[in-house]
Amino acid sequence: MSATTTVVILMAMAEEAAPIIGELGLVRNGRLLATPLPMVVYEGCVDDLFIALVVNGVDERFGVANVGTQPAVLSAYVAIQQYNPDLIINAGTAGGFGQRGCQIGDVYISAGSFKFHDRRIPLPGYTEYGIGSYPAENTTAMAQALGLKQGAISTGNSLDKTHTDLDMMGVCDADVKEMEAAAIAWVAWLYGKPMIALKAITDLVDSPVRPEEQFVDNLAAASENLCQKVVEVLHYYTEDGPALSLRHKLPAIYA
Ligand code: SAH
Repeated sequence: MSATTTVVILMAMAEEAAPIIGELGLVRNGRLLATPLPMVVYEGCVDDLFIALVVNGVDERFGVANVGTQPAVLSAYVAIQQYNPDLIINAGTAGGFGQRGCQIGDVYISAGSFKFHDRRIPLPGYTEYGIGSYPAENTTAMAQALGLKQGAISTGNSLDKTHTDLDMMGVCDADVKEMEAAAIAWVAWLYGKPMIALKAITDLVDSPVRPEEQFVDNLAAASENLCQKVVEVLHYYTEDGPALSLRHKLPAIYA
């Protein structure tokens, strides 16, 4: 039996992942499961943790990053098959609500449950199914230790938002809006894998400037901040000494 503690980091875009890959000295190890899937894997170690960082790769037809919930589900599923991780971290960028105290460049850690804001199914039981509310690890101790903002993360498949999306995010008290976390959280829940998300703010949802303009302007700086916090989180899990300390720091909600 191997005592290695494995962390899988799932990321949508190469631009978001590049600083982390560089900082941790991760080495490219081909495609996920060596399949035709577009996801690319980078591997390495941080203290006694084995790290597999999966980037969702490029859509061959459109030449852009595989953002959104479909690639997120697929990479989460295959990465769990390949690595059987002790922890899944979804790291990426997101929009934040200025009215709720978000600032460009902030890095949020997930709190509460992971929800969808664009799955509206007004039938008995299906309303709640649509929203999802997948369980999230309790990150309060870590947020306090590392000075991270905690926030409720809401997922949908659009960079912009409709009025209905906004209403839904208001009802759910969302702090942060992005396109992957709840999808990954569903897979993590199916497999009983602890999951946290770290999201760096590239744009403010309630700004008059369009999100795509803000996103492009702030992607590089936000990705640098994200890198710093991902590294701090990994060290947090190992600071009490080698071997399995990560497990002791995960609340036992999946036990
Ligand atoms: N326009 C970008 C496309 C990126 S899509 C480009 O030209 O490269 C947005 C990605 O960043 C998704 O992976 C999503 O999770 C995250 N994201 C950042 N800000 C977001 C927002 N306001 N709403 C939804 N997703 C956002």
